[in-house]
Amino acid sequence: MPELPEVETTRRGIEPHIIRQKINTVHIRNHRLRWPVPVHLPNTVQSQTVNQVLRRGKYLILTLQTGSIIIHLGMSGSLRITTAQQPADKHDHIDFCFENKKILRLHDPRKFGCVLWTAHPVEQHRLLSHLGPEPLSDALTADYLYRLSRKRKITIKAFIMNSHNVVGIGNIYANEALFKAGINPKRQADNMSLQAYQRLIEAIQQILSAAIKQGGTTLRDFTAEDGRPGYFAQQLKVYGKTGVACPNCGHPVKKITQQQRSTFYCTICQQ
Ligand SMILES: [Zn+2]
Repeated sequence: MPELPEVETTRRGIEPHIIRQKINTVHIRNHRLRWPVPVHLPNTVQSQTVNQVLRRGKYLILTLQTGSIIIHLGMSGSLRITTAQQPADKHDHIDFCFENKKILRLHDPRKFGCVLWTAHPVEQHRLLSHLGPEPLSDALTADYLYRLSRKRKITIKAFIMNSHNVVGIGNIYANEALFKAGINPKRQADNMSLQAYQRLIEAIQQILSAAIKQGGTTLRDFTAEDGRPGYFAQQLKVYGKTGVACPNCGHPVKKITQQQRSTFYCTICQQ
């Protein structure tokens, strides 16, 4: 599943090809994504120029003159830059065709992604209005998480995975950040000190930044004709490592289930 680093890497990969470019046409081969792709989209965006390519959480936003296109890659979506010479396959649902002859093509085998339009300020859209701060921004502070977590009777892992509190921390990155910060994923969010939140934020930021940096290397060519930009293999310390020696202490990594999601942690290093 594309997580925040993959979405940010995608943003950086497509931006140089479409920024300040005019949309000629939009071909929608399949409207039936997670939510229906608006029928009016091709008419609405035709002849408009892409002013900005933004990311908010795991949403990509193309800002045009009269509104914004909101894209989510769902479970299996990817975007690539291609040309009309490259035939679309059955999972290539939408082509945005630009005046510079480049095509931004959405591929999504499982169709859990979405492509929507809003004519209103994008931060007010129902999918975006409730989102917490960006994890790599100055808005995410230990003080903010500490105050928000008082009297919250949930685990720290559930707390940081809730996009109302902070966006873009999926299961893999929650596991890895809690390990790096030495925090037990079963700890109660309101039982964490300000210092523990500071440690956790530093771990989250280091792990996400490293993944984005690595993605920038792996996915440098968004125009490759030999298939899809493959999402990069993260350098994982505990995620999926049940029974493998903890890289810090050698104790076997334990797997449990929390909120129907797999949690991997070291019972010695994470207190
Ligand atoms: Zn350990």
